[in-house]
Amino acid sequence: MSNEPDIDPRIDSHYGAFIGGTFRPANGPTFAAVNAATGAHLASIARCGAAEIDDAVKAARAALPGWRATSYEERSAMLLKLADALAADMPRLALVDALDIGRRLSETTLDHMIANAQYRYFAGAVLTHEGFGRPIPNGYMLAKREPIGVCGQIIPWNVPAIMVAFKLAPALAAGNTVVLKPDENASLSTLELARHIAAIFPPGVVNIVPGTGEEAGAALTAHPGVNKLAFTGSSEVGRLVSVAGAQRLVPVSLELGGKSPNIVFPDIENIEAVVDNAVFAAMYCNGQSCLAGTRLFVHDAIYDRFLEQLAEATRRLKVGGPLDGSAKLSGLVSEKQGRRVLDYIDIAKGEGARLVAGGKRVAVEGSEYGHFIAPTVFEASNSMRIAQEEVFGPVLSVIRWNDHETMLREANDVRYGLAAGLYTSNLRNAMETADRLEAGSVWINHYFNLASGSPFGGFKESGIGSEYCRETLNMYSHLKAITVQTQVNPP
Ligand code: NAD
Repeated sequence: MSNEPDIDPRIDSHYGAFIGGTFRPANGPTFAAVNAATGAHLASIARCGAAEIDDAVKAARAALPGWRATSYEERSAMLLKLADALAADMPRLALVDALDIGRRLSETTLDHMIANAQYRYFAGAVLTHEGFGRPIPNGYMLAKREPIGVCGQIIPWNVPAIMVAFKLAPALAAGNTVVLKPDENASLSTLELARHIAAIFPPGVVNIVPGTGEEAGAALTAHPGVNKLAFTGSSEVGRLVSVAGAQRLVPVSLELGGKSPNIVFPDIENIEAVVDNAVFAAMYCNGQSCLAGTRLFVHDAIYDRFLEQLAEATRRLKVGGPLDGSAKLSGLVSEKQGRRVLDYIDIAKGEGARLVAGGKRVAVEGSEYGHFIAPTVFEASNSMRIAQEEVFGPVLSVIRWNDHETMLREANDVRYGLAAGLYTSNLRNAMETADRLEAGSVWINHYFNLASGSPFGGFKESGIGSEYCRETLNMYSHLKAITVQTQVNPP
């Protein structure tokens, strides 16, 4: 069933790169954006390479002196104007994402709301982006924040609106100019956002260059005119970006993969609510979330009852098309992603994990092209690949635990360290456990709560740096010391 909303997504037939404030015609090589659920052709998008990246970096360099000279108040006002324009266009942009990546419209709408809050947050935060200073004999020391310069930013496909906001808002607020490469699976809403950018920001301050990672992405990371790299995506590509940055000695911030533990203690009061939280933590976004709580540690004392209810709750989740308002899960972004998830289901079975729910494709009427997979639950042990590797799909591994120390060691025994959740009625236990979890975000008695201003970043192989918070402005700034003496003394 599909409840097509009464909105025209107004997707153009062709999109070129957005460079220097204008869209270029897409007259070179292109790639297709297709409706992830139906396979319908949505648009042709320019497959840009080194030449367009070079033009975009030049445009960003040319815009830099003017942009860095703007006052904090001017930048703040422009970010608020962008937020207002995007809010007015939100239903359409959310629909564009739902069609392009196949996620439920209610989810992509939430993406745009979270993204919108980011532009507003950094519009405010920049007004507090102060340096510091102190008197010295015969003068003053002033430490001031300066923009780094041209930022090369690369983002993934899973939550495109949030990823764009995470990158653009702090970089622009701190006075940098940007060349951003969206993901080839999810470029449309970012290119549509460029229309609003064109109406608000001076030409060249933001440039958007679509293309593949190997072509446009690699060219951006290697370009000598880029002063900072910011990347969100897999740890494997993050490593390549890091190497490219190291070769030119430019700062690199990375938001990478995750395999987050979600821990259930035996003293929880409302088992049903915790079950629902655990399902949500693993299955939201069809599991295509770096933050997903994919390793569920459940205490032995409540394990059997919990697992039974979890299996029930998982089986109840309706899988449907992205525009089906009654569905709780939709399809994956691409054939490649669908295959990856099914391969991991086979791997889990092969290594002896016990399938509790799901584990197969689901046919959705009217969306035969789509890649729908039933929400899947395995009983596993922490050393299995299904519990160690990022699946990026609706697959949850449940792990039984008994001894607190062993459980904590296992929860931390993974290459990633992005997020963690825990459920308990004992505050002291909650805080002591949170302190010992190796993760950039720990949620106690809930999951996925992203309040603006709470740092978002990974430990271990999940990344370097923190987004979403005031600290992010420092990641996009140099700190310069200027020392003044009121008179020239003999040295
Ligand atoms: P990916 O690393 O394959 O691609 C991400 C981006 O990198 C895309 O734009 C791609 O075109 C580009 N890219 C690919 N090869 C490149 C290269 N050689 N040089 C430069 N750029 C290149 O990741 P994906 O499969 O698109 O996204 C899923 C991954 O992203 C998962 O691991 C997920 O956990 C991670 N992710 C992390 C966060 C976070 O904030 N930590 C958020 C969302 C997604």
